[in-house]
Amino acid sequence: MAGFLDHRLFQPRRTHAGGVERDVLSEGMKISLTRRFLALAAVLAIAPWASAHPGHEGDHGGVTWDFAGGFAHPLSGWDHLLAMVAVGLWAAQLGGRARWLVPSAFVADMVAGAALGRAGFHLPGSEQAIAASVLVLGLLLARAVRLPVTAGMALVGAFAIFHGWAHGAEMPAAARGLGYGAGFVLATAGLHAVGVGLGSLAARRSDRFARYAGWVVTAAGVALFAA
Ligand SMILES: [Zn+2]
Repeated sequence: MAGFLDHRLFQPRRTHAGGVERDVLSEGMKISLTRRFLALAAVLAIAPWASAHPGHEGDHGGVTWDFAGGFAHPLSGWDHLLAMVAVGLWAAQLGGRARWLVPSAFVADMVAGAALGRAGFHLPGSEQAIAASVLVLGLLLARAVRLPVTAGMALVGAFAIFHGWAHGAEMPAAARGLGYGAGFVLATAGLHAVGVGLGSLAARRSDRFARYAGWVVTAAGVALFAA
C-alpha cells in the first residue's frame, strides 16, 4: 500500500497514470485473492488433524501419566504445538526482554492452570479457549501486533491457564502427576525456544516469515473451532 501511494505521489504527471493505476490495483487484487485461496487451502489441509487429540475430551487412550507421556502430549496435537511455537515466534517479533519474558509467563501460568485443575477448580470452555489461543496468537503474528511486554505476558498467560487446566483436571487422582508435569513443561519450553529461535533468525532478513507463519496458525485456529 505504501509503495502504491508513493508511486502516485512521486509520479503524478505520468501520461499513462490511469493505466498504471489500474494495473497496480488489479495486481493488488490478484495478490489478495491468492492469499485468500492459500488461507482456505490451509484450513482444508489442517482441519482433519486439528481436532482434539488423545488426552482431551475424556479420550485417554494411550496416555501414560509419566514424564514420557507429559513430554509427548504438547507434540501430539496441533492445538498445543501451534500455540506454543506461535508464542515463541510472537515473542521474537516483539524482541528485547519479551523474547524470554513472554514464553516464561506462558509456562508459569500453564503450571498454575494445571494446579487449579488438579485442585478441582472448574474452568468452563477450555477446548474453545485453547482454539481461541491458536487463532489470536496467529493474528497477533500475522498483523505483527506490538503490545507492551507486561500486556503480552498477561495475554499469553491467560491462554496458558487453559492449556494447563485441561490436563490438571483430567489427571486421575491416583497419578502423582509430577513426572507428567515436568515432561509437559519441558516440551512446552522447547516449543517456545523453537519459535523464538526460528523467529529471531528469520527476522534478520525480513518480517515476512513470521507474518506468513501467523496466517497459517490463524487458519489452523479457524479449523480448530470448526472441528
Ligand atoms: Zn492437551
